[in-house]
Amino acid sequence: MLGLMQDHPLLISNLIVFAARHHATQQVVSRRVEGDIHRYTYRDAELRSRRLAQALDAMGLAESDRVATLAWNGYRHLELYFGVSGSGRVVHTVNPRLPPEQVVWIVNDAEDRVFCFDMTFLPLVKAIAAKCPTVKHWVALCEADALPADTGIPGLVSYEALIAAHGVDYRWPTFDERLAAALCYTSGTTGNPKGVLYSHRSTLLHAITAALPDGQALSALDSILPVVPMFHVNGWGLPYGAPMAGAKLVLPGPALDGKSVYELVEAEGVTMAAGVPTVWLAMLNHLNANGLRFSTLKRTLIGGSAVPPAMITAFRAHGVSVLQGWGMTETSPLGTGSSFKPKHAGLDEAGKVRVLAMQGRAIFGVDMKVVDAEGDELPWDGKSSGDLLVRGPWVISSYFRRTDEPLLRDGWFPTGDVATIDEDGFMQITDRSKDVIKSGGEWISSIDIENIAMAHPAVAMAACIAVPHPKWDERPLLVVVRKPGVEVTPAELRAFYEGKVAKWQVPDDVVFVDAIPLGATGKMQKSILRERFRDHRLPS
Ligand code: AMP
Repeated sequence: MLGLMQDHPLLISNLIVFAARHHATQQVVSRRVEGDIHRYTYRDAELRSRRLAQALDAMGLAESDRVATLAWNGYRHLELYFGVSGSGRVVHTVNPRLPPEQVVWIVNDAEDRVFCFDMTFLPLVKAIAAKCPTVKHWVALCEADALPADTGIPGLVSYEALIAAHGVDYRWPTFDERLAAALCYTSGTTGNPKGVLYSHRSTLLHAITAALPDGQALSALDSILPVVPMFHVNGWGLPYGAPMAGAKLVLPGPALDGKSVYELVEAEGVTMAAGVPTVWLAMLNHLNANGLRFSTLKRTLIGGSAVPPAMITAFRAHGVSVLQGWGMTETSPLGTGSSFKPKHAGLDEAGKVRVLAMQGRAIFGVDMKVVDAEGDELPWDGKSSGDLLVRGPWVISSYFRRTDEPLLRDGWFPTGDVATIDEDGFMQITDRSKDVIKSGGEWISSIDIENIAMAHPAVAMAACIAVPHPKWDERPLLVVVRKPGVEVTPAELRAFYEGKVAKWQVPDDVVFVDAIPLGATGKMQKSILRERFRDHRLPS
């Protein structure tokens, strides 16, 4: 016997329609790339999203066609989230920090039909446009009169002109909630990034569950600032969660330095802000250097990398609570959060910080376990460390275009993180089995860095490892065995990376060793190198 309740699909358009109807006057505030502050309401956002949806119809876009965005957090990007997904197409957020050839690869892999970009990225778009044959429409996110002449980009139109040509008489379509809604590529350990394809259902279930009080704790009384870019796993779901809760949404544009973020927090009465540790370090430094306080900020959601205990202490000293979140592009992203249980009430401050410094416990819907090399589950004793596996309705089943490559292990997604879980279900990351370095929230493939080094005539063997860094969390160090009798300096090797990777991916330093430790199968034992160079002082 089936239940007798109404069968409404969970669609992304529901979120903005709800906000426009029930929180019509709630504000969306954006710092624009032009530098000024733009302010409107959820009602305005929904009406403009409808115009955009009609514009996509007029372009002849079919269901599930991809629309790429290369944009900072702002109201036009928000409209793309809703207008593109809500009309049954797929919003494909592209990370502008990737090297241009990877952006080209991603756009071609996704077969994007439309490409929308902030004017700050015009030079990048000019450089790649001719290499993206699937893109039939280039759209600059600006007013018509801000569009420069002679960009060389074929048929370039301004977003404002595009949507102004269409009315608001649009009915959001209804379709299967499992339809693809958003696409985000994640950098793998080597080679090209892989696409994670979210559905309407996975996005809504994630938004609802992540918003629970022990997670993002979203409310209509909140003013929410996602500093995390909307090209990083959908801004951690906050562009969906804020309208769902009827919360004010504050979008910081490209100004992510400590001073600008602090000023926005104060000016817009921000109560909850989310971002990677690097961003918060800059903001806390600005506060301390200028003797400033927060007048409205109550909570921060910090994730993407381990949160240093000193950062938790600093926020708490300012009266701001910290929720450390763990997640991945493949998990939409929220999987765990470090929120207290009743037994922690009696802990002193140091004990509380220890709890918050763990990656935390699973939110409802996510199941996790740690396994040994044979795949057997390890006990939840806070000591047994193994591969972290997760599963749930907003966890990936396969990568885009790679459904024939087995990804799951008995239905569980192997995260590439190595962790312990304690008796209270608190997960703590202890290492990483995937060969990558995370610097300021962005990935560097160690293998790509090593392959380039190996192409240098003086290098016999090279290993690239992460070294802890106070600002960027991790930075790459290149460990090199030179060919006998050949001289090469660290500066020469670093110069060898010019033009081959993005500037921020070049190793900070090079050390020379006689040999790199190898395991039984001939694999480099990087854990030994990481231990040996843990305290290596990188040049400032
Ligand atoms: P991404 O797919 O770029 O969001 O990266 C996901 C990866 O970032 C995870 O698999 C972890 O390695 C790392 N990560 C995310 N959150 C945390 C955290 N709170 N602590 C430590 N590492 C994290």
